[in-house]
Amino acid sequence: MPTQSPRWYSAHARKTDVAIQNCRNIGIIAHIDAGKTTTTERMLHYAGFTRRIGGMPIKSKDVDSGDTIMDYMKQERERGITITSAAITFGWKTHRINLIDTPGHVDFTIEVERSIRVLDGAVTILDAVAGVEAQTETVWQQATRQGIPRIAFVNKMDRAGAGFGRTVREMRTRLGCRPVVVQIPLMESPSGASRVGSNDAQFAGVVDVLTMETLRWDSEFSGTKITRSLLDASYPDQTLYQEAVKARIALVEQLSALDENIIELFLTLENHMAIETKDLQAAIRRLTLSSIIVPVLCGASFRNIGVQPLIDSVVDYLPSPDDRPATLARLPDGKVAEIGVGGLKERLCALAFKVIHDAKRGPMVFVRVYAGQLNERTQLWNSSTHSKERANKLLQMYAMDVEEIPHITKGNIGVILGLKDTRTGDTLLDAHDPRKGLTLSGIKVPSPVFFASVEPMSTSDEKPVEEAIKALIREDPSLGMRVDEETGQTLLGGMGELHLEVAMERMLSDFKVKAEMGKMRISYKETMKGPGIVSKLLSWEYDREILGKRGRARAGVSVERLERSEDGGESTSSEGRECGSANTGSEEHDGNEIVITLADKADADAVTEMIPLSEMVLPSGSTDLPIPVLRTAVRNGILSALSRGPLLGYAQTHLKVRLAALHLYGTESTPAAISSCVSAAVTEAIRLGGDPST
Ligand code: GDP
Ligand code: MG
Repeated sequence: MPTQSPRWYSAHARKTDVAIQNCRNIGIIAHIDAGKTTTTERMLHYAGFTRRIGGMPIKSKDVDSGDTIMDYMKQERERGITITSAAITFGWKTHRINLIDTPGHVDFTIEVERSIRVLDGAVTILDAVAGVEAQTETVWQQATRQGIPRIAFVNKMDRAGAGFGRTVREMRTRLGCRPVVVQIPLMESPSGASRVGSNDAQFAGVVDVLTMETLRWDSEFSGTKITRSLLDASYPDQTLYQEAVKARIALVEQLSALDENIIELFLTLENHMAIETKDLQAAIRRLTLSSIIVPVLCGASFRNIGVQPLIDSVVDYLPSPDDRPATLARLPDGKVAEIGVGGLKERLCALAFKVIHDAKRGPMVFVRVYAGQLNERTQLWNSSTHSKERANKLLQMYAMDVEEIPHITKGNIGVILGLKDTRTGDTLLDAHDPRKGLTLSGIKVPSPVFFASVEPMSTSDEKPVEEAIKALIREDPSLGMRVDEETGQTLLGGMGELHLEVAMERMLSDFKVKAEMGKMRISYKETMKGPGIVSKLLSWEYDREILGKRGRARAGVSVERLERSEDGGESTSSEGRECGSANTGSEEHDGNEIVITLADKADADAVTEMIPLSEMVLPSGSTDLPIPVLRTAVRNGILSALSRGPLLGYAQTHLKVRLAALHLYGTESTPAAISSCVSAAVTEAIRLGGDPST
């Protein structure tokens, strides 16, 4: 491997406009302790960002001490590198890699889901001793659901009891993927003779099965120097050679079964060893991009072994933003459209995937640009909150420092400073974009289920506490705040106990507020009596005078209780899942499903291919309001009804609400009247479908 000066790499990363094909947005997914932090540190080091590798080799953490998320956060902070930043950029050869942080704890599954959303590819780190662990499985399934191509790194190969083959088998059986081994461990007995997998042997490097080379890392320069030597029949250790040949044959056989080009080459050359590295690489890239295979590498980050080939593989096998399917966004009329396919004239569309409160800079909004280009000092439109924003400054985050940049190009990730209301999950457009209600689909924010009171130490602490909670909610919308109507206490809500503890810890340490947390309690969400129950209310008349003006509308709705599925987040109805598919008018909100298939006659003809005519709702009566305005009014009505249950006022969950009919009375049917009518109809239908005894 040509040794390039680390400075060269970092200099390259600063060329803001790297071609989109040379950009990689990746995340590392792993069970806690698999070595995510260590591997990240080493990556940054080899990319030229840290002068010295932090704490090497540091004493191993006591696994039995109970690794809570607090230790974990403190530990990451104490290491001094900003790897807790939501995303950092570094250069590798001619590529730019944006490494996006994915939290490692189950309580933060929402956070993981949200950060996976902006990844184009992921590196899975496995502990060679522990193999596939619980959290590996959870995060793996999330990545599968979102169609994220992955490569795997079997880490800690230096530990006693490390099992490379066993871990690969577990990937097959427990993760249900097709691992393709591109490296095997190079074991060496202390006497010097290399042996694959022998008992007294030590992990000394890796064998590259594609190039048939051994790779060894120097220990003097923290693994910066790699020595490659060819592994052929003349190699002194014949056992190693045979192992490598076996792995090479297995690799070619696997690829032949999946890739036409490789089978053709194999039929021509009739030799597993003769197929060129570049052809194998190209096939592995194709198959990885379509998530058919998962290339597997190995190493020991802590011993500085195996990290550079891992970064090479990120570049070689993981997708650029251009290799990904077109991004989907929801238009104000409920239809789904592809964005980012407009070439040069493309309008800006960016996703705020993380908001971090910074004591010096204020809120830092991490964005990924999906279409167009985001320029500094421009007016933006937040289509999720419907408010204007201004991007004062744009930043690129590196490991040790920050650079101000003039723009964030398509496919890239950066930070906006100066935004006032933007929250995690919001969509940002150009202020002049006529598509005011266009939002990127994909990030669901569930409402909190655990609550705890937050008690300010004194009255002068009340305001800071409230402000800290608000800032935290902007960062993490799955947190919530509410005032207990009986006691007047401020309640902080979250997804689990640890989630609340971390939030509290952050209030004390980052926001320096003086407060205490009270006892934890669970909030029960309301829903209808049993799964599959449908409550229909086909004609609900609304007629009321507000400020001397008459408001009228008539709506029909049906409400169905959805099945709770095992993996928690998702729900299915007896009519099957139709969420998210184009033009069905269906959307998911807070564990509920909302179906509004409103259309006018022309529209109905156009979309009946997607939806049977019997399911379309054509408004009767008369109105001047266009369909999108009607749809928004209906949607607002449904959301308002779902936000407060008829029994105890808790938010509703697991309901499928469908608009069944809408009758309008000309100018008396204002959007407000329509919303009120629909809201009352839904509330009544839920009440009718609820348990009569309560
Ligand atoms: P994370 O929780 O996934 O971020 O894992 P860390 O990077 O914090 O590593 C967890 C523990 O495993 C730490 O004590 C590391 O020093 C140790 N560790 C990480 N990589 C290796 C490795 O390659 N070999 C060995 N023996 N220990 C490692
Ligand atoms: Mg870590």
